[in-house]
Amino acid sequence: MRYTDVAIIGGGLAGSTAAAMLGRDGVPSILIDPHQIYPFDFRVEKISGGVQLERFERTGLAQSVLRSATLDGENWIARFGYLLDKVPSQQFGIMYDALVGAIRAEMVEPAEFICDKVIGVTTSDERQKLVLANGDTISARLAVLASGLNVGLRRAVGIERRLVSACHSISIGFDLVPVGRPAFPFPAMTYFSERPSDRIPYLTLFPVGSRMRANLFTYRQADDPWLRAMRHHPVETLNAALPRLRRITGEFDVSGDIKIRPADLHVSTGYVQAGIVLVGDAFATTCPVTGTGTDKVFTDVAQLCNMHIPAWLATEGMGADKIAAFYDDPLKKACDAWSNDKAFKFRSVSIDTGLYWRLQRWTRFLAYLGDGTLRRTRKVIRPERKLRAHSSSPSSSTSSSSSLSSSA
Ligand SMILES: Cc1cc2nc3c(=O)[nH]c(=O)nc-3n(C[C@H](O)[C@H](O)[C@H](O)COP(=O)(O)OP(=O)(O)OC[C@H]3O[C@@H](n4cnc5c(N)ncnc54)[C@H](O)[C@@H]3O)c2cc1C
Repeated sequence: MRYTDVAIIGGGLAGSTAAAMLGRDGVPSILIDPHQIYPFDFRVEKISGGVQLERFERTGLAQSVLRSATLDGENWIARFGYLLDKVPSQQFGIMYDALVGAIRAEMVEPAEFICDKVIGVTTSDERQKLVLANGDTISARLAVLASGLNVGLRRAVGIERRLVSACHSISIGFDLVPVGRPAFPFPAMTYFSERPSDRIPYLTLFPVGSRMRANLFTYRQADDPWLRAMRHHPVETLNAALPRLRRITGEFDVSGDIKIRPADLHVSTGYVQAGIVLVGDAFATTCPVTGTGTDKVFTDVAQLCNMHIPAWLATEGMGADKIAAFYDDPLKKACDAWSNDKAFKFRSVSIDTGLYWRLQRWTRFLAYLGDGTLRRTRKVIRPERKLRAHSSSPSSSTSSSSSLSSSA
């Protein structure tokens, strides 16, 4: 049997981030995952700027990890074939396997990695016992369950999950390539749906290396024939759903595999248990349309590793009262509630046909249009002001007067 302070089950985004943070803080920990190198998985493919980036920064890993990502710099916002705004942007494009790989590369001793599957967990107020598929066992003061959608281990300790919304949305990922030109005119673009009946909230295009990656979202059932059409005739199907998209993109083609992934919304129940804590998707899943999954992962892991684990390890035992403090953490609770609320509001604002939501859609459209107009106006005014300031500055007046005198 191997002994450690923290055993982390699952080395996706949540588990790998926790292992890297604990190693850096000198906490003995073991990360267990069946994949030595995280395989391709259609998940989050970009980290957004603003709040999401701040949350990532709280893990202390953002700076080094994002060096291997592609920064867009500007995101065009468009709808109905019209460019509404060109927003300065800090989206970092990175495929999920590369993101997890870059985070795992930040792991240092005393954090260790074991390439295996956990097949059994027994918990108590004192020590937690993990059984691996190869027969080895690990004894830890705390088990962190970061096993994503895998339900098996949770059940073993009496944690169930409640289905909040079945097939809440479907995400479609592919590469978009320009036809007859070397590149698209935009660094990145968010194109909002043209009609609620298409059940598409938006299409986001963003660079990952030299590729223009496309994430298209839709609110449809998993057996909708539209998905088959999208898989077999993506260009025609996309043009039929977003007929004015080409005004901005120009002619395009789709290259490589098309990944289609439905997402259910789940939340765990009966999770306040001695010795074990759930983070990331293992605790609750999010709707990919809202792009809040990583907000939840980074909030969970940053709060757990920066605050709770150091406090828990400083005293004897690992009773349920200690674990409850994590689920009651105000930052975690606020992030979970915000993410869940957004999942339903985004769906309504995209496809509901009631008067309130129609007004919301137009308000959003007008807000983008207003922001874009303001930004364009500022851009025109600023250079004029600069020009005026320049011509009234002492050095420029000297040069202009000298040029006047010379011409005279
Ligand atoms: C299509 C799609 C698009 C998304 N887009 C976005 C987005 O744009 N923005 C955003 O913020 N979020 C997005 N998300 C959500 C985000 O990807 C997830 O919230 C996040 O990846 C969850 O990470 P995790 O570590 O909790 O789970 P996972 O990444 O699923 O990791 C679970 C890990 O546990 C391991 N594991 C499972 N069982 C065991 C076991 N018994 N023993 C050992 N290891 C085990 C697995 O091998 C895996 O490595 C998207 C999700 C999907 C599905």
